[in-house]
Amino acid sequence: MKTVVLTGIRESELRDAPPPTIRRDDEVLIDIAVVGVCGSDVHYFSEGGIGSMRVAYPWTIGHECAGTVVEVGPAVTSLTPGDRVAVDPLIWCGQCDQCLAGRVNTCRNQRFLGNPGETPGAMAEQLIMPAASCCPIPDSVSFVAAALCEPLAIGEHARRLAKLSPDATVAILGAGPIGLCVLLALKAAGVGATYVTDLLDPRLDMARQLGADWTGSPRQEDVVAAISRQQPSGVAAVFECAGQQETIDQGIELLTPGGALMLIGIPEAKEIRINFDIARRREHVVQMVRRQNHTADVAVEMVAGGVDAVQLATHHYSIEQAQQAFETVQQYADGVIKAIIHISGDE
Ligand SMILES: [Zn+2]
Ligand SMILES: [Zn+2]
Repeated sequence: MKTVVLTGIRESELRDAPPPTIRRDDEVLIDIAVVGVCGSDVHYFSEGGIGSMRVAYPWTIGHECAGTVVEVGPAVTSLTPGDRVAVDPLIWCGQCDQCLAGRVNTCRNQRFLGNPGETPGAMAEQLIMPAASCCPIPDSVSFVAAALCEPLAIGEHARRLAKLSPDATVAILGAGPIGLCVLLALKAAGVGATYVTDLLDPRLDMARQLGADWTGSPRQEDVVAAISRQQPSGVAAVFECAGQQETIDQGIELLTPGGALMLIGIPEAKEIRINFDIARRREHVVQMVRRQNHTADVAVEMVAGGVDAVQLATHHYSIEQAQQAFETVQQYADGVIKAIIHISGDE
């Protein structure tokens, strides 16, 4: 089968590899249709790793995928060959204290699709996953929409963790695919005024297209002052999706007393600063958000119900063009929001 492997810094190759085979009774074999390019994939591509997690070459990345089940292990009852599925890229053990407590995203024995050293990624014609990680999609949901359910599930998980009232005012700092998926999830559930910031205009354009009430770029204005003029008492929640000290600082300044700072972005540095003087006096809640937790099927229901995540898929590539897809996303070129690599099929 064809597979895209990283072979060095900013280098990838299309190679032929033996197709994977089902080894455990609960696994299924999937013909991959499409894979989205995630920011994390681009870190592996351009820097050879994220933090202490380093790529050992050659390595296959990719985790935002969808496809068709073609074979199922003997213990699988939830899926049959022919089922179209969205894939939750997390493989959890189901037995540790975290899994038993309903926190599979912090499973102590987890493996994540495409993470270096954990399990090879989805940029290949075929993939093995546990049936529990596959969410069937109705015919009305395209494979592209299904692949976008992965970042949308993260947005929905973050929204749920924030426990907001339906008229809460929020700011989203960083309008890449994750920030935009937070916006989609908030809009779908009901939210008050939404303020979105980013450095890149195409992302702000997309945020307005998705219904943001106000957008602004820190390159052009003091965004804290601009939002504070409209929300003098502060916003109920800030979804920090840029992973920058600057946006974390802005978040603390923007929050109303008792408001929640939702930290979704992944800072490059191991440590970040929180303005304790403000955060303590205003009793802010600081909540880390780790991927998603059983929200993949919720995301599928959302897109089936009309949440239009496909708008985020601005760029499309064939498997032969994977290198170009990685470069485009890495350079934020051509107004790209989400690049989709079509492995098979044309959906
Ligand atoms: Zn991702
Ligand atoms: Zn576990």
